[in-house]
Amino acid sequence: MLAMSVGAAGQPLIPVQRPRPEPGPHEVLVQVLACGVCRTDLHIIDGELPPRQPGMVPGHEVVGRVVATGPGASRYAVGTRIGIPWLGGSCGHCPYCTGQRENLCDAPVFTGYDRPGGFAEYTVADERYCFALPEQYDDVHAAPLLCAGLIGYRAYRLSGVHGPMRLGLYGFGAAAHIIAQIAIAQGQEIHAFVRRGDAQGERFARQLGAAWAGPSDALPPAELDAALIFAPVGALVPAALRATRKGGVVVCAGIHMSDIPSFPYALLWGERTLRSVANLTREDGEAFFDCIARHPVSTQLQTWPLAQANEAVAALRAGRVDGAAVLVP
Ligand SMILES: [Zn+2]
Ligand SMILES: [Zn+2]
Repeated sequence: MLAMSVGAAGQPLIPVQRPRPEPGPHEVLVQVLACGVCRTDLHIIDGELPPRQPGMVPGHEVVGRVVATGPGASRYAVGTRIGIPWLGGSCGHCPYCTGQRENLCDAPVFTGYDRPGGFAEYTVADERYCFALPEQYDDVHAAPLLCAGLIGYRAYRLSGVHGPMRLGLYGFGAAAHIIAQIAIAQGQEIHAFVRRGDAQGERFARQLGAAWAGPSDALPPAELDAALIFAPVGALVPAALRATRKGGVVVCAGIHMSDIPSFPYALLWGERTLRSVANLTREDGEAFFDCIARHPVSTQLQTWPLAQANEAVAALRAGRVDGAAVLVP
């Protein structure tokens, strides 16, 4: 099978031919139908997340069809379409796993980082961490839901907002454009912050129903109740705190961020909360897919053939993708 493998830090992915993997205990062999390209994949390709294994195959927004099952795997029959997310396994016995916070597991297994992911024609996954996908989403449109949608949803849940409130979204890409639709459906007013000069990004946000869109160093017309930061830019933290009211929450939703510049304590004062969101739990996934089965979201995306993964990566890196980037084998 064809797989796209991580090379030296910052270098293009390398196309390789590998044998089709065999499913082990509790695992399913999946024929990949579509796989999203997430910002985390860029961090892995660029070595900003230290490599855990040489020649890793990235990709953790995997939509695939089960073609074989390993010993003890009985949750999904052969032929079932499933989604494989970033959390590919957890230890089950650390204080986080036993305390309903498996997203913080001390010994996690991440798809496309600790184990090969979906930038390939086939992959294997532990079925206990996979999700059934709502039928109304086709393969390519379901792919970005598996990380951009899901992590965005967890960030949204942990921001403490419940409509109608004013929510800021910093970095209006794959995650923001999905969560904006859910938030608007729940009565929130969305303020979208994009790179200064990104007129196309501002237009995209307004098309999706944002009440205001502007550059990320600008102040919105009214104070935010909460802000979610999806762009990996540390300078957005003081910017978002500045735009957020007393008692409001700023959530950093990315796995990696450039250093946060020092800022006056007054920006945090007034019982503002600054927090990160890490990974996902299976409960997040069940709640998210239940939510979007009832309140459908439309994912905007561009597709590339798997063999052209490097072009998708370059487009995402350059901010040239409206919405999500998806690979199709
Ligand atoms: Zn654990
Ligand atoms: Zn991701």
